[in-house]
Amino acid sequence: MRIVTTATDGLHRQAGSREVVELYGSVWRGRCIECDRSYSLNGLPEQDGIPLGLCAHWLRPDVVWPGEWVGHKRLDELVQQAQAVVFLGEAAHNPQFVEAVRRRPDLAPRYLEGDIEAGLRDLSQE
Ligand SMILES: [Zn+2]
Repeated sequence: MRIVTTATDGLHRQAGSREVVELYGSVWRGRCIECDRSYSLNGLPEQDGIPLGLCAHWLRPDVVWPGEWVGHKRLDELVQQAQAVVFLGEAAHNPQFVEAVRRRPDLAPRYLEGDIEAGLRDLSQE
């Protein structure tokens, strides 16, 4: 099961999910403000308290900030590959997710809110 998330905290991976697409990036990574390369923040040098990439430029958090655009292409590719879609919690209210799934009318998305763990358990038994 692939998880596509807007969460940037890495908790899906820490919880053991193996295939996670962090659509809005990860706070555990930095992105170069000059060349746009992305780096794991583990063990990188810093200058004035700001991490430096291996390209020797400052890194910003590798996350989507408010007002930045997340292209539809990547999300559309993921939805095209999907055999099923389950919206968990707040994802059901993300207009980019909703619109991408709307472009796959053959998918009948499911929605889980509240006790998501129990909902997933029920779905796995269908
Ligand atoms: Zn760079």
